Amino acid sequence: MTDRASRIEELTIELTRQRSVTETNEEQLITEKVHHFFSQMDYFKDHPEDLFFVPVPNDSWGRKSVMALLRGKKDPDNNNTVVLIGHTDTVGISDYGDLKNYAHLPYELTEKLKERKDALPAEARADLESGNYLFGRGIFDMKAGDAIIMALMEEYEQKLDDFSGNILFAAVCDEEANSAGMRSCVPEMVRLREEHNLNLTAVINTDYMTAEYQGDENKYVYVGTVGKLMPSFYVVGKETHVGEAFKGLDPNQIVSELTRRINLNTEFCDTVEGESTLPPMSLKQQDLKTEYSVQTAKAAHAFYNYATHSQTPDMVMDKMKAVGREAFDAVVTDLNDQYKKYCTLTGRAFEPYPYKAKVLSYGELKAQVIRERGTEVEAKIERAKRKWLYDDTIDERDYALKEVALLQSMRTNQEPVVVVYFTPPYYPHIYVKDETDREKKLLEAVAQAVDTTDSAYKLVYKKFFPYISDLSYTSAPRNGKAIGALKENMPGFGTKYNIPLDDMQDLSLPVVDIGPFGKDSHQFTERLEKTYSFEVAPELVDKTIAGLLKK
Ligand SMILES: [Zn+2]
Repeated sequence: MTDRASRIEELTIELTRQRSVTETNEEQLITEKVHHFFSQMDYFKDHPEDLFFVPVPNDSWGRKSVMALLRGKKDPDNNNTVVLIGHTDTVGISDYGDLKNYAHLPYELTEKLKERKDALPAEARADLESGNYLFGRGIFDMKAGDAIIMALMEEYEQKLDDFSGNILFAAVCDEEANSAGMRSCVPEMVRLREEHNLNLTAVINTDYMTAEYQGDENKYVYVGTVGKLMPSFYVVGKETHVGEAFKGLDPNQIVSELTRRINLNTEFCDTVEGESTLPPMSLKQQDLKTEYSVQTAKAAHAFYNYATHSQTPDMVMDKMKAVGREAFDAVVTDLNDQYKKYCTLTGRAFEPYPYKAKVLSYGELKAQVIRERGTEVEAKIERAKRKWLYDDTIDERDYALKEVALLQSMRTNQEPVVVVYFTPPYYPHIYVKDETDREKKLLEAVAQAVDTTDSAYKLVYKKFFPYISDLSYTSAPRNGKAIGALKENMPGFGTKYNIPLDDMQDLSLPVVDIGPFGKDSHQFTERLEKTYSFEVAPELVDKTIAGLLKK
């Protein structure tokens, strides 16, 4: 093992031993640890202003991120700066059951698992027996990635007189929950860029990389990243007593039809350069009746995870409105069919259903209500919003739903309707095209790193990091229509839910993920493969940095 590899292993273990479950006070401790690591270096002793905490505003756990700017001394004219990001939080540990006290002790846990290896899934057992894997919560997602960055920066710091260009590292909290760390670091990146006249070239994340399918032996480097929207539906039907079943319009039936048409429908896969996103997936579906009764529900709602490679909010809104109309029409047609049959069975005269498909975006609903009721509406919404904003039990999702429900209730026409909106969060995709100088430079640096790295592994670089990550926040669409569709149709945007959109648009950085390799993140069998993670991935990161810093 090289010195670098053993240093990375040492740091990986040290970071993993500091438990840092997301949305707990422990997150502060790991941030302190990373800060302490850099504060011991001569460079940061001489330049304390280049190492600082970035607090998360109004955070219940007092969490913060840490940023470190390392400025090379060889060529003061080289302002090229690579941004590195890594999250320091992990998911919870309840999945470890009675081993949870070992979850953050990789060597001890790996030994413990040997005692009960027969209870492990076959692949995990084989990896355990190979001796080339370390188990532990967060070791793979992504403390090994943080360790790679820290070890490389430690090396650069030791030869800073001979180092040309700069490194800016953001070790961020809250990635596994709401990305509050990254969202607060983005404005700091802009500030540092202005203050030091930095030329930010690209962002490297070292979050994990894993097999894409069973038996996949490739090791991936991903240029660009997937994005995410959550198209949502608020469906108002017509309630009825069960004894008069054919008099109402059940919103549950429309929502079910929406899910049938949207859920895992590959028609909505976003395919770019041969890379397809996963199809949308249902994350919530419920009616909004709070009590039991023999009356059917008045309203129901649903939202879906919708991954993007190129589709912007305006495009997704158009598609979702179209599905909304189709689902509404299909339900009315189906009800008419059934009612006609029922009338034949019972010898009654058939009258078709009076309902016509009506679909509004949230923005359209709002405009309509304001038109109908004037400014009184806005004052009423403002009062309600203020109350909700102070209530900690209402999260961004509930908040968005409440606002839609309130507005809809103020509409003069209370006939059935489908309201389409976006529920937070929003993660823009980043598509690195090979058009701008920065994009070209990143693609070249990555290609060069991959092509010149000798290893026993099959290295593959492809487009779009497939997991939702903080990488999304270093860029945003600049197209007014795309962003307008987001702002107008996401209730709570700018009040309950904040992303530094202007700074993201301003940064517009291409991104790459070069991560350690392992398996089963977010499961108790989470494990890190040592050889690739400690030897190959660091070389790829190091070479990519060198390519990006070149003048
Ligand atoms: Zn991660």
